[in-house]
Amino acid sequence: MSDLERHELISPIDRVLVIFSHPDDAEFSAAATIATLAAGARVDYLVTTDGGKGTEDPAVTSAQLTATRVAEQRAAADLLGVSEIVHLGYPDGYLTPSLELRRDIVRQIRRLRPDLVIAQNPVRRMDGNPFIGHPDHLATGEATLAAVYPAARDRLNFPELLSEGLEPWKVRQVLVSGVERANLYVDVSRQFERGLRALLCHASQIADPVAVEERVRQRAAEAGQPVGLPLANAFLSILLT
Ligand SMILES: [Zn+2]
Repeated sequence: MSDLERHELISPIDRVLVIFSHPDDAEFSAAATIATLAAGARVDYLVTTDGGKGTEDPAVTSAQLTATRVAEQRAAADLLGVSEIVHLGYPDGYLTPSLELRRDIVRQIRRLRPDLVIAQNPVRRMDGNPFIGHPDHLATGEATLAAVYPAARDRLNFPELLSEGLEPWKVRQVLVSGVERANLYVDVSRQFERGLRALLCHASQIADPVAVEERVRQRAAEAGQPVGLPLANAFLSILLT
């Protein structure tokens, strides 16, 4: 059991924004949670990069791959009940937590007004685990948290957004995925299969669907163990006041 204070999802939740780097990140980390939330709230996606480098096929260009991945992401989102997908289109693999990226995320937070944001983990693992963190994930995670607090909330940040008619917005809860220590567990037993089908929409990224299914199922089982859930997604929850 984690020694962090346990959190629950806020209530009510009208709008959710899931912010991630590459088409497939949202489904890999939280597909069944997204399906669960979408049953009672509007869920939108914000994808920071164009996903144009995730291939080993020398015959595929970056532009072709990006088009494929945009289509795969839309198909996955449709299965989960996601409404809008905003693609910022930064080049895959080269992302930094720049002020430009932060402003672009603030713009979408102020426009879409989510109560809840699902974010990537901005912290690199240094414990010998081979999943040390993709640099784009770290950059998106850092820019997302910086956008939520304080930039989306405080009107003097990025004043050009005010002239676009985008007033400050307070996100009430952030769920950070891919964390080593969690304090919020979403029971995904009922939506697990749907989440899996959504993940498998990313066919260009999945060479062995059976192995992926096994890995995702095992991870969900392990995530639920500390709280006695058969299948769960685990997050670090941050409540903002
Ligand atoms: Zn990724």
